[in-house]
Amino acid sequence: MMPAMDGDDWRRDDVLATVRRYWGFEGLRPLQEEAIRAGLEHRDSLVVLPTGGGKSLCYQVPPAVARRTDVVVSPLIALMKDQVDGLRACGYPAAALHGGMDPGSIRTAEREIAAGRHHLVFVAPERLLTPRFLELAARLGVASFAIDEAHCISQWGHDFRPEYRQLAGLRENFPAASLHAYTATATERVRTDIVAQLRLADPRVLVGSFDRPNLVYRVAPRSDLRAQVLDVLGRHRGEAAIVYCLSRRDAEEMAERLSAQSLRAAHYHAGMEPGERRRTQDRFAAEEIDVVAATVAFGMGIDRSDVRCVVHAATPKSIEHYQQETGRAGRDGLPAECVLFYSPADVLRWHSLMERAQDGAPIDPGAVQTAKRLLEEMRRFATSARCRHAALSAYFGQPLAERACGACDVCLGEVEGLVDATVLAQKILSCVARTEQGFGITHVADVLVGADSDAVRRWGHDRLSTHGLLRDLPRKTVVNVIYQMIDAGVLERTTSDRPTLTLNAASWEVMRGRRTVELPELRRRKAAKTRLEESAWRDVDEGLFESLRALRREIAAERGVPAYVILHDATLRDLARLRPGSVERLRGVRGLGEKKLADLGPRVIEHIVAYVSGAPGAPRHRG
Ligand code: ADP
Ligand code: ZN
Repeated sequence: MMPAMDGDDWRRDDVLATVRRYWGFEGLRPLQEEAIRAGLEHRDSLVVLPTGGGKSLCYQVPPAVARRTDVVVSPLIALMKDQVDGLRACGYPAAALHGGMDPGSIRTAEREIAAGRHHLVFVAPERLLTPRFLELAARLGVASFAIDEAHCISQWGHDFRPEYRQLAGLRENFPAASLHAYTATATERVRTDIVAQLRLADPRVLVGSFDRPNLVYRVAPRSDLRAQVLDVLGRHRGEAAIVYCLSRRDAEEMAERLSAQSLRAAHYHAGMEPGERRRTQDRFAAEEIDVVAATVAFGMGIDRSDVRCVVHAATPKSIEHYQQETGRAGRDGLPAECVLFYSPADVLRWHSLMERAQDGAPIDPGAVQTAKRLLEEMRRFATSARCRHAALSAYFGQPLAERACGACDVCLGEVEGLVDATVLAQKILSCVARTEQGFGITHVADVLVGADSDAVRRWGHDRLSTHGLLRDLPRKTVVNVIYQMIDAGVLERTTSDRPTLTLNAASWEVMRGRRTVELPELRRRKAAKTRLEESAWRDVDEGLFESLRALRREIAAERGVPAYVILHDATLRDLARLRPGSVERLRGVRGLGEKKLADLGPRVIEHIVAYVSGAPGAPRHRG
């Protein structure tokens, strides 16, 4: 490995000047400085930052400061292309090499790279260790490799990619280079695995805070999904939103329903033709559509940072997934809303999917058990009445001080308080006792609502005194309450293949009247704008903001790049707040580096001046 530089050689000023010059950022975010330093000092590193935490800057800055060429391994071609477009728009020289390019463009790119013209080269993992690339990298003396989405190397991660396994050969092929792994996956096991697989040597491990203070989390019981989703999206008219659905068909139906309500929506899932998928992504990036109803397949390829709303129409199968998917909201740091519509039915659906997933292949009971445990954590999160930010952070091993966060349904007081459900709980518990603790949720609920099913009759449960005891309640509600009781610890559920309900000491206390049971009310108060959201719009001329968005769309279309490559929402809001009247006044607006100032400044100013003077053609305030 290259000798590490002394502390004195740490060039903070150079770093800040670089960040200002290319990106127009005033400073660095937490851990970016340390990560950049590791890159400059050629010390192996593992950087764990949540989505939107600013990982890219950590590997973009060192080669620019040190005037060298680094290599970035990235799993998706679409992602590479967008990153290269985004960097070039900032005047930062970067190139990509991947299978989606024609031989001519590959040769051109290789020639430029060989001439040392680029600071970053993005490559797909399968290309990295080809003789052709090895030769190019050796000729250039590449001394630093960044591995983006590094969790893809681990089987324990939620996104294992076999082609990432080849990266284990990096160390042998480039014994003198430093390796820098980046991921948003926080679990300890995956982290350890990344270090081992890549053979990182005494790496600097930097783990950022997983809390996303600009996200407002809400969890509501699912009742009338369509109306509920429309209600949420109604708060985000004309803004970017993603609605995650459990199945491909759900995604298609959702997109159809939304379109029928005149929302600009489309669907996205892995069952579509690649061309069709790309088209949906492009239209979303170009701001031609606002809402994508998608399965989890919609993810890594989206770089749009102004997603203002992520809706989960169904419960994700783990908190990791939930964090990853909600993490796509508000990457620009502005407030965004994440709403999960939870139903216990999702849990059951996941269980059957997990058990069915191995059809054909040998069943791995261990994997199924792990999957169920992760799902169970997710269920707990969704059904508890604890601050969402606190619960998520605790899950990732970073406890937050428990105080009202002002950015979740619980702390905002939208979740109706706990209600005394002792009598209801006693009825359910006595039914569990009468059925001799040998049956699952469905069966117990059936008995309680007085169902006349084969199973109920076969076991003679229609003759029990508890049969029909809760016939006034919908079966769904009974199932929900049972789940809540498990969550509250007054009822147990075995973790066997056919889980049954069993009683514990707390259950008996409840039945004997020595303990009360309080459960969260299923109804929710109407969501209002949070203070966070309001302050992000303070002093912003919303009409001008919308009109600048239109200008951005226009420029993006002219240049054939995604709109976010042109300017970020945060920049547009600042512009619509400051309403600068000259190019000089643009200096210091966040997100405007030198290249963009020169390139877009005059046009932006012209637009603002025309808007402010009420010139014809300038759009008016939004409604
Ligand atoms: P990640 O790869 O960790 O998901 P990104 O690198 O895409 O996150 O960064 C998320 C957003 O934050 C981008 O819009 C980026 O421009 C912005 N950003 C990153 N670093 C800074 C910074 N130091 N100051 C201001 N904005 C930043
Ligand atoms: Zn909270």
